[in-house]
Amino acid sequence: MKISRLICSFLFLLILLPLVTGFGLEMKGRCYFKGSDHELEVIRISGRKPGLTLLVFGGIHGDEPGGYFSSEILSGIKLERGNLIIVPRVNFPGVMTNRREIYGDMNRKFIDREYPDDPDSGVLEVLKSLMREADIFINQHDAYGFHRDKYISKNYNPYRYGQSLIVDTGKFYSKKLGREINLVEVGRRIVDRTNKHIKKKKYYFGFWNHNSVAENTKFVEMQKSATYYALVRHSIPAFGLETSKDLPTLTHKIRHQLFMIKEILNEFGFEYRFPSFSFKQPVLYWVEFIKNGADIIRVNSNTNVRLAAGDRLKVNAVFGNYETGLSADILKWGSLNDMDKEFIFRKTARIIFKKNQLKIGRVNLRPYLDGSLREILVDVNGEERVIPNWGKIDLAGGQYFKIEGVRPVLKGVKVDVRGFSLRPGKRDDAGIEIYPRDLIEKYSFQKKGGVYFVKIYRSGVLAGGFQVCPVARGTYEGQPIEKVQPGTFHHWLYRAITASHL
Ligand SMILES: [Zn+2]
Repeated sequence: MKISRLICSFLFLLILLPLVTGFGLEMKGRCYFKGSDHELEVIRISGRKPGLTLLVFGGIHGDEPGGYFSSEILSGIKLERGNLIIVPRVNFPGVMTNRREIYGDMNRKFIDREYPDDPDSGVLEVLKSLMREADIFINQHDAYGFHRDKYISKNYNPYRYGQSLIVDTGKFYSKKLGREINLVEVGRRIVDRTNKHIKKKKYYFGFWNHNSVAENTKFVEMQKSATYYALVRHSIPAFGLETSKDLPTLTHKIRHQLFMIKEILNEFGFEYRFPSFSFKQPVLYWVEFIKNGADIIRVNSNTNVRLAAGDRLKVNAVFGNYETGLSADILKWGSLNDMDKEFIFRKTARIIFKKNQLKIGRVNLRPYLDGSLREILVDVNGEERVIPNWGKIDLAGGQYFKIEGVRPVLKGVKVDVRGFSLRPGKRDDAGIEIYPRDLIEKYSFQKKGGVYFVKIYRSGVLAGGFQVCPVARGTYEGQPIEKVQPGTFHHWLYRAITASHL
């Protein structure tokens, strides 16, 4: 899968990414504060039939992955009736660092007073404005233990937050929905239905009414929480959904979060096709840099990018099996997320790449050595090009490329164009005009024909390379383009004729 990096140069307003889904509905993603420490992705999904709007906050506490991974999966839902607004990572700096809070507890900042100097204030403003659109609200968490009505043990008792659905009141009149709602009845019913999906009784959810709206409440602090704010300011049913940090795996947490959300959707009349409950381990394919404002460099994890002092480098995109929740941290420089920031190279540095809190790769920036390969000379359809080591070329339909040499001139250099076998047995692919149709798709990235790899060896050791992207073939940068199928009669005829001439 290709990951497109959605470039956004404005801090507050950005990307609209409309996708028409198979259910005939629309999904839109918008990312606020893109590339900053406070990146805020907001996904909107609308069903064809009118219905209520459910707002879901994941990751308000950065060390609660059951919430933020499950809300990402939830965004794969196909809605027929109703609307969803999903914010998978409310607290992006917390999520990146796996810390509950960075600038204080975000779930105590839902009050009318403003915090002008609070770094979270921009995010809070967006979150509060989303609440105005919502009819129902869920705030996702993970917490320790298992909530039970009666004391059973240290880990199973009325004081534990894990595996619970929490409300702030019992009966109330929802001005938004125009009817009275008994949140205790509704909540208990949702919990009972959710527990039917759970095999082991020890993992069952409990129900908890904090009654934080009462004057004598034991939970005064909760009057600054997001659910309280949604209930009191916007008069909508609001639920704190907590899975247990003591569940054995992240997959358990994700599944249990989704079971509960499904039953909340059922309770409020949504019609939908639910996404499958699978969790993919995040994988980094490669990282794209822009060097000195112009050149593209693409490297895998654990690569040394060699540079000259004064070279400017910017992380432009991270390609992996996830498109969002990605960050790049240049250690001992910048802030938590250094995507899109221009770094001036002086001495060795390291960049760590993450999907949410999970490290997915690292790249080292190092000074050139005497024998470092710096540039590659490529003839692209008759045009002489000089690309940096680990660069990339695009080939339009019918164009060829030919590797002419490297700079500095080095001895013992051999080029291997992966997937090129017009001259079987020949071990150096330099100096040959190579067309996309000469390349075997099996050797391309994910066998899709969109990205091929050229490797350059010096005395048998990998010294560099570049990517070849035939834009007329396969899928490249998200654009489905007409595919030239290898294995056709013309393809094989061409290969046979060309081979006989060599
Ligand atoms: Zn929490």
